[in-house]
Amino acid sequence: MSTLKILKYPQKGLREIAPIVTQFDDALRQTVKEMFEKMYADQGCGLAATQLGLSLRLFVMDTSPQQNQPICIINPEIISKEGESISEEGCLSFPGVYARVMRATKVTVNYQDEFGQPQTMTADGLTSHCIQHESEHLDGVLFIDHFSKLKRMMMLKKLEKVQKAAAAE
Ligand SMILES: [Zn+2]
Repeated sequence: MSTLKILKYPQKGLREIAPIVTQFDDALRQTVKEMFEKMYADQGCGLAATQLGLSLRLFVMDTSPQQNQPICIINPEIISKEGESISEEGCLSFPGVYARVMRATKVTVNYQDEFGQPQTMTADGLTSHCIQHESEHLDGVLFIDHFSKLKRMMMLKKLEKVQKAAAAE
């Protein structure tokens, strides 16, 4: 079983900018495998390496309803954005906190897979929002950054409450 631990806000590491991945070896693929295990275990639809304290420019995601379509995105570069839409987002680093975030409806992303092969994906809906959310993690940007100071304070209060309740369990 994986020993990876998800950093919770405001733990250090979440604001790190992840360096480009250059080594596409078995060790990398093992890390990716463990990231998927962790993401599924915690019922997330996306998980970025920076959320685990790993200095790797990559994230894993699965936005399919059955959670059976794993996609690993390495060195992502969003090359086009279209439209605007709002959808409710959560984040494994902010357990229990949800908020409606405005993002591009449709994105096209260039990336590499776990074998270093260049790939391109165009996505909309939940997948598009997930790609944007996870890509931001790799630059140390968090979803709370999309909101006003007041709204952010409310979200952090909620987070504190959830964490206190979890600690008391
Ligand atoms: Zn997140």
